[in-house]
Amino acid sequence: MKSFQTERWAVDKTENTLENHPHIIQASLWINKNEVIAIPTETVYGLAGNARSDDAIKRIFEAKGRPSDNPLIVHISDLSQLEGLVSSVSETAQKLMNAFWPGPLTIVLPKGENVSERVTAGLSTVAVRMPDHEIALAVIAASGVPLAAPSANLSGKPSPTSAQHVYEDLKGRIPGIVDGGSTGVGVESTVVECTGELVTILRPGGITLEELEKVAGAGRVVVDPGLENEKQAPKSPGMKYTHYAPDAPFVLVDGSVEFLQRLVDKEREAGKRIGILTTEERAHVYKADCVIPAGDRSNPESVAQHLYEALRAFNEAGVDQIFGEVFPKTGVGVAIMNRLEKSAGGNIIKE
Ligand code: AMP
Ligand code: MG
Repeated sequence: MKSFQTERWAVDKTENTLENHPHIIQASLWINKNEVIAIPTETVYGLAGNARSDDAIKRIFEAKGRPSDNPLIVHISDLSQLEGLVSSVSETAQKLMNAFWPGPLTIVLPKGENVSERVTAGLSTVAVRMPDHEIALAVIAASGVPLAAPSANLSGKPSPTSAQHVYEDLKGRIPGIVDGGSTGVGVESTVVECTGELVTILRPGGITLEELEKVAGAGRVVVDPGLENEKQAPKSPGMKYTHYAPDAPFVLVDGSVEFLQRLVDKEREAGKRIGILTTEERAHVYKADCVIPAGDRSNPESVAQHLYEALRAFNEAGVDQIFGEVFPKTGVGVAIMNRLEKSAGGNIIKE
């Protein structure tokens, strides 16, 4: 792997004519040399490369240390870029695009002829979305090619929601990061597959099942059974990996504040430094070495937004063990719990 002096290119996303911004042009020049750079999206920062280039895709996998059987999402800025990228768009898929693009919904479609085999990890389908972020759209448009872009973190680490997170993970490995400030949604896109009129959620994310049902029709949205059932493999290859993990062991606690505090006290008596992942409402209630709130429990969108930043903060605090609260699995809570269960490697203590 080449090494780089990783540059940070600040861009104010509210500026007009972003496509002509010197930093956007600079980013697109790297893309057109089939190198990879990090860009902000509305979900998390992405590590972007030319989706048509085998070299670029190889560099994405190398820089992240990502297993090569985990396919990438391709990002477009204009529907005309579907040409060559996918071979057909079903009626249901079209409806979802009309309703949710640009936005945090990824649709798995039959693969076209003009996309690197490495993007799809040999599958006959390709995952596509149009991000709802001015800077991402401007970089794609300036590059003139669809961009494959997984989250811009080292594989296994929490996804990056700021340019600083990307820098911590990928400095020296990529030529630059377009710094557009903090991302908005905070968890990755929802990944869906459409077969006939049925929509299957392969990965929960920024768009909820309830929102999808409003467009696809009641009862026409299902969740891949492989996500909940341990005996069945998930349909999305990425869902089988441990992900989003802080450095210290992380356990979820499904119980009262008092129960969680007792678990913490016991470990601290044994001399361990303990962290607690909670929300603003309860942050002052706990006693531990490091108590980190991720958003407000009363506003699950804010929890999604701050979740990865909170998980990363425990690494700086240098704790030996982290206990985290659970959240109701409704709305964006489904995505929050999916990420938390992955970062805990499935470890949950019930009261
Ligand atoms: P990331 O790029 O890290 O946000 O992860 C992308 C997610 O989309 C992973 O869970 C992949 O397994 C999933 N994905 C990408 N392409 C496909 C596809 N063709 N079929 C099913 N899942 C896919
Ligand atoms: Mg990722």
